[in-house]
Amino acid sequence: MKKLTFTLVFIIILAVLFYPSENNNGTENDSQNDSIDSSGECFEGEYYDDEVDVCILECNQDQDCDINSNEFFKVLEEEQSEAIEEEILEEEKVLREYVINNDSIVGEIADRRDSEAWDLFVELFPEEYTEYVSGYQIISDGVGGTLALVEQNPDDIAEWILAVDLDDVYNIKGEMNKYDFSFTLIHEFAHVLTLNDEEIKPDSDLFLSNEDEYGDVYSNKELDCDSFFTMEGCSYNDSYINEFYSDFWSDVYPEFEDIQYIEDEDEYIFALEDFYTKYEDRFVNEYASTNVGEDIAESFAYFIIEDEPSIEKVSFFYEYNDLVRLRDIIRANLSVVINE
Ligand SMILES: [Zn+2]
Repeated sequence: MKKLTFTLVFIIILAVLFYPSENNNGTENDSQNDSIDSSGECFEGEYYDDEVDVCILECNQDQDCDINSNEFFKVLEEEQSEAIEEEILEEEKVLREYVINNDSIVGEIADRRDSEAWDLFVELFPEEYTEYVSGYQIISDGVGGTLALVEQNPDDIAEWILAVDLDDVYNIKGEMNKYDFSFTLIHEFAHVLTLNDEEIKPDSDLFLSNEDEYGDVYSNKELDCDSFFTMEGCSYNDSYINEFYSDFWSDVYPEFEDIQYIEDEDEYIFALEDFYTKYEDRFVNEYASTNVGEDIAESFAYFIIEDEPSIEKVSFFYEYNDLVRLRDIIRANLSVVINE
């Protein structure tokens, strides 16, 4: 009897110990591509039609609910070429920091433009994804340079911070560069879409390691990871970024990794330029060749904006039903934003 009690306690301890890790290993992740369809749950911006058992875009019948790719890229280029001369500061400064709760800025807002820029982010994407963002910063590195970025929130690395440089969001007349800003936000959104904790396992050792330790920690973690290792952690096997890596990067990765070991900055930049020139037809633009993470984010932005996929990497996203629906929603939201 005593032995039985002991065995029972042992089994319970084992069950408690292993349950969370089993859960982390991707039971949630496995269903990422079909859960919305099969359960009838729709994205914000869609409604559920129970007769046909699918989610339908809310403004499906309205012609204003889509954008024109050529027109979008044309205005985007105009906005970028009108930009005043670059004046980049030595260091990037954080001017203001906000906590985000339920898609809203908590507390007092220092500048009208802070909320205007935040509202555009929330307007473009369904809350299923904007929910990952729990912090918002106004940063500045002068005119030019970084327009926006996302990074893991140090308070909880499964959450994200969106940082925006208002000097680049607004032109000299004080008007918002809506096309440039929206395009950048779609790119940043793609990072959250492909690096959230259902896609990768956020790695706190890597996040907390200092500059000296980082290289070793990264190499060890990468060795332990059977799928693509991102700078935020090991990706799940069926994650977008791992599939993207397998399809488009695995053959050139050893060549790309060699470049990463080049210590001289000029030499590194030249090698990366050569890498881009060699594989130019694989990338939507030069920035995309920076690394796998930037490539998937930039290709996703082209997937959203382009009427037809220009290269295979853009076609990649059409293989996922939920991403095709997400594309419709973002394009519909974008048409509202740019016509406001
Ligand atoms: Zn990026």
